[in-house]
Amino acid sequence: MAEQDSKETLTTLDSFEEIEVETGQSQGQIYQIAVIGGGTMGRGIAQAVAGHGIPVILVEKDLKSMKTALKLLQEEMDQEIERWGMTKSDKRAILARVEPATDLKRVKECDLAIEAIIEDFDAKSALFEKLDKLCPEGTIFVTNTSSLSITELAARTSRDDKIIGLHFLNPVPKVPLVEIIRGLKTGNDTFQRVREFVKRIDKIAVEVFEYPGYITTRIIVTMINEAMFALMEGVASAEDIDLAMKLGFNFALGPLALADQMGLDTIMQWMETLFRELGDLKYRPCPMLRKLVRAGHLGKKTGRGFYNYDEHGRRVGIAIAKGGW
Ligand code: NAD
Repeated sequence: MAEQDSKETLTTLDSFEEIEVETGQSQGQIYQIAVIGGGTMGRGIAQAVAGHGIPVILVEKDLKSMKTALKLLQEEMDQEIERWGMTKSDKRAILARVEPATDLKRVKECDLAIEAIIEDFDAKSALFEKLDKLCPEGTIFVTNTSSLSITELAARTSRDDKIIGLHFLNPVPKVPLVEIIRGLKTGNDTFQRVREFVKRIDKIAVEVFEYPGYITTRIIVTMINEAMFALMEGVASAEDIDLAMKLGFNFALGPLALADQMGLDTIMQWMETLFRELGDLKYRPCPMLRKLVRAGHLGKKTGRGFYNYDEHGRRVGIAIAKGGW
């Protein structure tokens, strides 16, 4: 059975190619979604949406990145199957609903486009400018940004009433929360349609005022940053810092393991935006974070951060000892 499943997996990857499909822009109800960016968050969003019966076009910047995204998406679901968190037929149904693409033009077939590319204002605004030209005027654009201004991103398009923030958390298929953020000009119709969509994928939305880091990011990154300072100052080892926070506060993951899961480059971009926007020293990125990012040790996604990981993303040891960096 396992052999049969891995053959199907290969077939899916091998047969990946660009397909031209008839456009089907709809009004009101959301039938087809595009997710742009197949990284940590994009894959999770695609899985969560497809898992609720909604077809997804997953767009990556090139073929190599798309193949990596599809491989990781399948591995993440295989790990869930191993934990008895989903079945092989759930996986097959999800993969059947996620269509890979590298041509941004495919987004014009969708009612809603969710961008989950890198946390960089210029990259996100360039993407929205392109989408604005490509898509019918009714298409809603959603950003998954954690710290950038939705109002400022919306201003780069001709549809500032149709732009909204949905801040999903990692791992998306498991975390029930989504922060929903209106830009200054987001329309009520956009807000209602997106709130309905959030309900359809079984998430709970908390409405948040547009402000750098919303609720979750500003609180969690300050804790993670403080854990990095504790490690850098030699207070305890990475494992003991994580163990203390897990047992002491009933967290599922310690702050350093959580940082590795989120991606150290992404955390650094959040902190830099918070520091720049709010000017408060409490958002100063820990020098250890900068050093790891410069070295390309970005956490789980590169196999090394505070811990080491194997090619399946499983933790295989500690990368940074007490005080040593
Ligand atoms: P990531 O680095 O894992 O993935 C980004 C992906 O986008 C990469 O696969 C890259 O190839 C792709 N990409 C870049 N430019 C592209 C383009 N023009 N077109 C198509 N694909 C492109 O990053 P991530 O952690 O998934 O973060 C994505 C977004 O989600 C960021 O805005 C981040 O702030 C937000 N977010 C991240 C987390 C987290 O825990 N990592 C949580 C909430 C929100």
